[in-house]
Amino acid sequence: EGFVDGRVEAEGAGAVVRCDVSVVVPLLNEEGTLEELHGRLTKVLTALGVEYEIVFIDDGSTDRSFSLLKEIHAGDPRVRVISFRRNFGKAAALAAGFEASTGEVVITMDADLQDDPDEIPNFLAALEKGVDLVSGWKKKRRDPLNKTLPSKLFNWATCSIAGIELHDFNCGFKAYKRELLNHIELYGELHRYIPALAAWKGFTVGEIPVVHHARKSGKSKYGYERFLKGLFDIITIYFTRKYGKSPLHVLGKLGIGFGVVLCLTALLA
Ligand code: UDP
Ligand code: MG
Repeated sequence: EGFVDGRVEAEGAGAVVRCDVSVVVPLLNEEGTLEELHGRLTKVLTALGVEYEIVFIDDGSTDRSFSLLKEIHAGDPRVRVISFRRNFGKAAALAAGFEASTGEVVITMDADLQDDPDEIPNFLAALEKGVDLVSGWKKKRRDPLNKTLPSKLFNWATCSIAGIELHDFNCGFKAYKRELLNHIELYGELHRYIPALAAWKGFTVGEIPVVHHARKSGKSKYGYERFLKGLFDIITIYFTRKYGKSPLHVLGKLGIGFGVVLCLTALLA
């Protein structure tokens, strides 16, 4: 998955400077919000007085997003830009962002300004209380019912399978300690389940309510099919977790079951 790091491109490589906070932003065709998002992030992060970087991952946009990002990068050395040659999906974009980022704390958020940069201090405060992962909870969600209702069902199913209580698994606004990210491998659409994967490994997971805004520009990139895929994904990771090292504990039982049925059928026939 070749990608281009805008900073490396612009400066001709060079050592990556470690920082306190990395904000990782995956995006697909979000030309309408990038400049405002950059401005608001800069304001919040500067006020916090931390060393920070903002890592944008352009997941194959076909609008002006990438050229805008190059401009933003040219004017602000704290902004780094990764660009995919085609659309690989949000999980791949996040994985590339996690890998490229250097912060001791990593915050992920959407690019469409539905997530509010002003929440960042609250995430950091929650991490400081000692949890390893803080998940946002869009308590008052500003999305149409055809999004919020399936989301509720999905969340309920995920919580029961994952065995942890979160109101909003699917929230893209989250904060992680680097240590945790080092232990998580992302592929497919597994980004939704980082809290489950992390909890299973013994990391602590917390939650804070966050304000959520209606999408003001551009379009949502997801439809219903994501919930179906999401459900299959959680079943996959559940089985991998439970039987990954001993697949015959489940396959063997199935085999014996089918074997018995076959024998009985043969005897009765
Ligand atoms: N996104 C992405 N790659 C994709 C789909 C979405 O990077 O293949 C980004 C998108 O640009 C946004 C975030 O992921 O920054 C969340 O997507 P969206 O706002 O469409 O989801 P919704 O808020 O409608 O659930
Ligand atoms: Mg959105």
